[in-house]
Amino acid sequence: MTLQAVTPPGPDVPALPAPAGRTATPDGDGTRTDTHCPYCALQCGMTLTPAADVAPREFPANRGGLCQKGWTSASLLDSPARLTTPLVRTGGELRPASWDTALDVIAARLTELQAAHGNDAVAVFGGGGLTNEKAYLLGKFARVALGTSQIDYNGRFCMSSAAAAGLRAFGVDRGLPFPMTDLAGADVIVLVGSNPAETMPPFLQHLQGAAAAGGLVVIDPRRTPTAEQANVHLAPAPGTDLALALGVLHATVAEGLLDEAYVAERTAGFDAMWRTVARYWPEHVERITGVSAADQRALSRGLAGARSAYVLTARGAEQHATGVDTVSAWINLALAHGLPGRAGSGYGCLTGQGNGQGGREHGQKADQLPGYRKLDDPAAREHVAGVWGIAPESLPAPGRSAFELLDALGQPEGPKAMLVFGSNVVVSAPRSQRVAERLAALDFLVTADLVLSETAAMADVVLPVTQWAEEDGTMTNLEGRVLLRRKAIDPPDGVRSDLDVLAGLAERFGQPAGRFPVDAEEIFTELRAASAGGVADYSGVTYDRLRAGEALHWPVPAVDHPGTPRLFLEAFAHADGRARFVAVDHTGPAEPPDAEFPLQATTGRLLQHYQSGAQTRAVPELAEAAAEACIEVHPDTAARAGLGVGDVATVESRRGAVTGRVRCVASMRPDVVFVPFHFPGGQRANLITNPALDPTSRMPEFKVCAARLVPADAEPSATQPEAVTQQKPVTQQKPVTQQASVELQKSVTQQESGTQQASGTQQASGTQQKSVEQRETGGAS
Ligand code: SF4
Repeated sequence: MTLQAVTPPGPDVPALPAPAGRTATPDGDGTRTDTHCPYCALQCGMTLTPAADVAPREFPANRGGLCQKGWTSASLLDSPARLTTPLVRTGGELRPASWDTALDVIAARLTELQAAHGNDAVAVFGGGGLTNEKAYLLGKFARVALGTSQIDYNGRFCMSSAAAAGLRAFGVDRGLPFPMTDLAGADVIVLVGSNPAETMPPFLQHLQGAAAAGGLVVIDPRRTPTAEQANVHLAPAPGTDLALALGVLHATVAEGLLDEAYVAERTAGFDAMWRTVARYWPEHVERITGVSAADQRALSRGLAGARSAYVLTARGAEQHATGVDTVSAWINLALAHGLPGRAGSGYGCLTGQGNGQGGREHGQKADQLPGYRKLDDPAAREHVAGVWGIAPESLPAPGRSAFELLDALGQPEGPKAMLVFGSNVVVSAPRSQRVAERLAALDFLVTADLVLSETAAMADVVLPVTQWAEEDGTMTNLEGRVLLRRKAIDPPDGVRSDLDVLAGLAERFGQPAGRFPVDAEEIFTELRAASAGGVADYSGVTYDRLRAGEALHWPVPAVDHPGTPRLFLEAFAHADGRARFVAVDHTGPAEPPDAEFPLQATTGRLLQHYQSGAQTRAVPELAEAAAEACIEVHPDTAARAGLGVGDVATVESRRGAVTGRVRCVASMRPDVVFVPFHFPGGQRANLITNPALDPTSRMPEFKVCAARLVPADAEPSATQPEAVTQQKPVTQQKPVTQQASVELQKSVTQQESGTQQASGTQQASGTQQKSVEQRETGGAS
């Protein structure tokens, strides 16, 4: 069997062309600013007018296409859900306050808690959507101004497994170690656990060459829109993709398809790896995965016969308690076929969040310093401390990873306060009910956000911050290319940049003037120095080079260095220049199905929404198109549960239950149920997910848990569950809904304009009260 087109690729990728009359004009004519989409790691090029009119532009990542999220991204700039004044909880209510008051309250409370409990009493939580400058300054703020070791970020939930696997195989982790445009020349591309047709539709353009050659292979338990466009779709049982990689690798060796010259010259560790793989002959793997032995052998032959081939992994491979090993298994397969470090072939990871790559390089991870340096490396500490003007010994040790940090909040040995920047952990963290309870147990919670997200609604202080189009900053896309996202419009009155927030707080913590700049370019200049000589060396990247349109992929060790679009062509980054095979074994999901929970629940994304949905749910077009959580199941699975299309169902696991409307999909495996993770309240997919962590990356097992499907006794609810307030009385910690945010915003505007102050305040208060009443009666509104 050879790889051939069993499903013709669609005539068009769903990257929408510019509507008639909306053609981008060049930057510099005073009407349009070249910038990039605020959402995913593709970082599509777009232009923006001062009136916030979006148009796509030619850029290698998107070639003039944008998805629905990109086209509608500007509507959040003047959304009624937008926060435009700081809010401080007083008497149980979030009330408008001045910036000075809000920052003074934060500084006083954090100082008090650190004096009583030590520096680690204050935690910081960042995000993979923050610019490089913000991620860098946040890490510096935590370690220098607060002196805490307790900092991590939500990228731990997305890309850390591929990062760890890439590091141990190649010595360096960069999502794609080649420009994504290289993919166009491939005749075989294997996508493992990736659904770009919904997550980053313009990316499909780069896959069309392989699809036309009959070599686009998608490996996913679901027949996703991407799988629909593939030539071959292999659907292993959830949690068995590691075993599938072992089976294909076994077939490669058994059929004499191993690239022996490459393995001998460029790798190490094959023999140890093979001792494990030898037990995974394809027929055995068929019984584990459900993928036929013939299909495993066909995939091996397809890779061996390809002129140009790539293996690409994404969240489906990573988000397991064995995520690092799963990615390693696919890297082993790529090495066996001689792909990494060969021009026109390779292995890569498709990062998810907008700055998923840069966000993991510059110091907001628990164990990391800028430039991808390790916090426990004495030389790294000395270099970065020198740039920061502090003693190396004053830098804290590595702290807790993301879920462990969230789980420790409010515990006797855990942090008593937390600052959250660019993350909505109430929705996005695993076992989210538990996370909400931990947040509620804090003495003090601060969030910096655009809208009153579900996490912000629990905070004691909420700081309204600028968005992508209102500020300069750099992002690093999924191929390691550093991009300049330019300011196109002024922010609304009352809103400040996260950089201003950190500078204002640092000043209140007694930091010397100038140690925490507010200008993005100035901070980037400092980041360049801090990263110099590191793995992710940005020292040769300047704003001027980016403004001139240079394509700079890190490392860029000098201002006259052209950047490094293709890594590993000469050697891998280990001292001996060889890539490593890593022996990994299949163990299966941390929580296999059983009689009580006979199904396997998996989570993922919808085309219309991004991450926790805090932003995209506030965009009317997107919210209307995907207003609530769906539950995708095979029709027979639904029927066995007494459910039909459109019925409201509950997926239950040992940790909780999520409610949504049934969507029957005939291509689903009958043992799998799918829930998207963008929705709040009782629709949170993470109410059921398993927080079992990968031992290396500390990535939770989002992608599979044992579950059962039952009819629901109420409509899907976006209201915060009661447990959010279990740890604090409602009078002290009162969540408000996003609608309440709108009402609250109205009251602030009225107050600021000096009209109807009393009635405006009453309106906000009344809306809050209503939401609490709804929650206390089950929230079925
Ligand atoms: S969300 Fe991603 S794919 Fe869609 S326009 Fe933005 S960057 Fe491009």
